[in-house]
Amino acid sequence: MKADPDRVLRDLYHLRKIGTYKSGVHRPTLSQDDITARKWLAGQLADIGHETCIDGVANVFGRAPGAGPHVLCGSHLESQNHAGWLDGALGVVYALEAARVAASDNQLVGRGVDVIAFADEEGHFSGDFSFLGSESFVGEISEEQIDAATDRSGRGTLREMLAKQELDGRQRVSMEAGRYCGFLEAHIEQGDRLESAGRGIGVVTSIVAIWQYRITATGFQNHAGTTTMKSRRDAGRALMQVWSAIEASFPTVCGPDSVWTVGRVTLQPGQPSIIPGQAEMVFQFRDADPDNLNRMHDALTRLTREVDAASPCALELEVLAQSSPAHMAKGPKDALQDAAQQWAPDHYSIMPSGAGHDAQVIARHIPSGMMFVPSIGGISHHWSENTSDSDIALGAQVYVQAVLNLLAANSNG
Ligand SMILES: [Zn+2]
Repeated sequence: MKADPDRVLRDLYHLRKIGTYKSGVHRPTLSQDDITARKWLAGQLADIGHETCIDGVANVFGRAPGAGPHVLCGSHLESQNHAGWLDGALGVVYALEAARVAASDNQLVGRGVDVIAFADEEGHFSGDFSFLGSESFVGEISEEQIDAATDRSGRGTLREMLAKQELDGRQRVSMEAGRYCGFLEAHIEQGDRLESAGRGIGVVTSIVAIWQYRITATGFQNHAGTTTMKSRRDAGRALMQVWSAIEASFPTVCGPDSVWTVGRVTLQPGQPSIIPGQAEMVFQFRDADPDNLNRMHDALTRLTREVDAASPCALELEVLAQSSPAHMAKGPKDALQDAAQQWAPDHYSIMPSGAGHDAQVIARHIPSGMMFVPSIGGISHHWSENTSDSDIALGAQVYVQAVLNLLAANSNG
């Protein structure tokens, strides 16, 4: 049994027509196009005999018949605003394909593939959660948290948007952990490692942790022409000293896969002829290895303290978020690696994921694995995001094979 790459491509091209924007899609969570895509998926799953629903947070869930054990497969269907056609959709269509293949395999007696398209992985709604759909599915989100969530683009509250689509008040589907021998999510890489290495498949080892900080410098706001260089207390300059020290020092303390970014800098009052009295930057780094994370944290603390001591300004370091890395489990990882070796011998990489995914939520509850296909030019969250048809086809074969491997390894006899 194997994937039908033509069917996979046909499904992906169909989804690309729902909310088309240039060569990508604009399909924010709970928009009309997003609902159209969700209903399409529910229909496809019903066609192969799955018990199907769109739940109270817009998760689409298709439950395979049979006592199991089953594999849970899926990703997300909504897109970022005016973004790519494969981010999320690829993993959902692979999951659907795996479910179809399993449904037509009569040797699997009672075992199969449940499919889920998680709602709002892309975070259109802000609230006291990171991944609305997957965290709801595993029971980590309360009704109060849903009450408080609102759309970042001002379309309304989550409750209002759910009500508009007649989803509010529906039951939310809860994961039955005992039903599954594992979860597998496929996704586009969204970076250029695979393309640079000339590889077609990435087997993910872990999803990185993100540690985020606010660094604030407080000096004294004053006249840019009359205040001598010696007497001024320039908060902007002090903050830039921290940034420059980070760039000099981090390469000596980071790990081989660490990345770090100053994503925002603000100077107050931000006028050409005024010495900034206050300066602030938001800084984050990512890695999957706790030792690397701790070394970078210690370096950041030390550098901030050094600039605080040496400059006429006061420096302050505030932790905004410190998530934990999510490690993929051996069973699903082996199933993926064996499948990659079978379909793409020596044409795959073992690698971490630098981006967050629903798999990191599911991994807290059942053994989980992830695989990547290459992103052309490493581009994602942009309408020009793309992957070649041949890489999509190869990925489908590896993914479906991995699902079958995982089912075979958990046959209960
Ligand atoms: Zn995604």
